[in-house]
This record gives sequence, C-alpha cells and structure tokens, in this order.
Amino acid sequence: MTHPGTIVVTGGSRGIGAATVRLAAAAGYDVCFTYHEQGDAAHALVQEIRALGREATCIQADVADDDAADRVFAHAASLPRAITGLVNNAGVTGPIGPFHAADTKTLRRVLEVNVMGTMSFSRHAVRMWLEQGRPGHIVNVSSIAAASGAPGEYVHYAASKAAVEGFTVGLAREVAAQGIRVNAVAPGTTLTDIHAAAGEPDRPKRIAARVPMGRIARAEEIAEAVMWLLSERAGYVTGSVLKVAGGL
Ligand code: NAP
Repeated sequence: MTHPGTIVVTGGSRGIGAATVRLAAAAGYDVCFTYHEQGDAAHALVQEIRALGREATCIQADVADDDAADRVFAHAASLPRAITGLVNNAGVTGPIGPFHAADTKTLRRVLEVNVMGTMSFSRHAVRMWLEQGRPGHIVNVSSIAAASGAPGEYVHYAASKAAVEGFTVGLAREVAAQGIRVNAVAPGTTLTDIHAAAGEPDRPKRIAARVPMGRIARAEEIAEAVMWLLSERAGYVTGSVLKVAGGL
C-alpha cells in the first residue's frame, strides 16, 4: 500500500481528536496534531504513536489565533511525508445555559475557535495543495447541534456548527475540480471531557435516554467516520455532512 501521507488534526490531545490521531496512525498516516492546554496528554500521545512505528509530532496552538495555521502547518512540514489531510476538530461550547445568559466573551470565543479556526486552517491547506498541484482532503467536525439548534444548552455553539456545515458545502464545491474533497462529520453526544468543560459532566447520561440507540457515542466511533471520509474509499464523497448520532 502506498503511504497515505501526513494528516494534521486540531485538538488531538483528548476526546474525538485523540481517537482520530490513533486511528490515523493505525491506518498508516504520520500525524501532526495540536493541543491547547493539555501538553502532558499531547506528548504522551506522541510517544504512543511513535511506538507504533509512525512519525508523530504535536504543537501548542490556539486555533483562534491569526498565526496558528501558519505555525502548525510549518511544524507539520517537518515530518517526512507530504500533508494529505486536515481534520478541523478543535471546538468549544462555552457554559451550558439559555442563550440570553451567555456573555459576549463566550459568543465571540465559540465563533472564533469553531468557525474562524476551521476556516483559517482550511484556507491554509487549500492554498498549499493548490500551490503544490496535489490534492488533499479536509474533514470538519460539526455536531448534530447544527440541526437541533441545542435550545436551552448552547444555541451559539449550534450556530457555529451550522456555519461550519455551510462552509463545508461551499468550499467543497469550489475546489472539487482540483481533486480536493471537503466533508464534515456531525457527531451526536460523545463521551469526552467537553461536557465537564461546559459545566455538566453528567450530560452524557441525561442525553443517552433520548438517543434511539439508547447510548451515547464513543470517541472512536466518530473517528471511524472521520477516517473513512479522509480515505480514498470515500473518493466520490464531497460536500457531505455525515451524521454519526445513534439514530438522532
Ligand atoms: P474535548 O474532549 O473537550 O477536546 C477538545 C480538544 O480541542 C482538546 O484536544 C483541546 O486541547 C482542543 N482545543 C480546545 N480549544 C482549543 C483551541 N482554542 N485551540 C486549539 N485546540 C483547542 O472535545 P471533544 O468532545 O473531543 O470535541 C471535539 C469536536 O467534536 C469539537 O469540535 C466538538 O464541538 C465536536 N463535538 C463533540 C461532541 C461531544 O458530545 N463530545 C458532540 C458533537 C460534536 P487541550 O486538550 O490541550 O485542552
């Protein structure tokens, strides 16, 4: 099998991002991933991947920073294989609560991380692939909140993910003729630290009751969909949003 290249994953230190890093390495990719605050977890994951015989590196970055994409892609270019994939996974919700209670700082932060982060990393990747004259593939991690609106929990987060999905469709159609595929995965509630960060660690238990399959997702189940969309097995799939949500 030809080597699938290097993949860049934002927010790879924990949760869905870390599961994606592990599956990517198992599929033969080299991996460069970012972390924000959890440097120890990120460096431990790098060692775990290297022990599998794959190249791996991590870099601290806030995807909302203007220079983050430049820094991260420059770092990824230090790996020996060409960059062939980008997973825009880093995301934040802000505190759970009704929209009227959300402060301006939270609204701005959620939009900057989820939307501006995804757009600036995607722009960098597309420019790079167009300049190199080679195709690459992008997967954006959205949420079923984009469709549900997440009333009473985080409407602003839902709006940010709806923006990610609109961006996914438009960019996919714009660069399809150049062989660049752009897709999104919309996970349902998944067992990660994001719920504790939002102020309700037991949210997964509460949500499980209303999921047709009767349980929430494991991070690996979301990562499987991400890796399929990145792979050549999804060679005719672009501009799609793949819901992975247990029937919701
Ligand atoms: P998580 O467990 O909270 O992990 C978030 C990851 O993103 C961590 O690696 C974190 O880095 C990183 N990160 C956070 N803010 C960042 C920033 N400003 N710049 C760069 N990296 C940043 O989250 P998760 O549940 O795996 O969520 C991953 C994605 O899935 C998000 O886009 C989320 O919206 C989406 N999603 C999650 C669920 C769910 O139920 N979990 C459902 C639908 C969609 P550190 O570890 O260094 O802090």
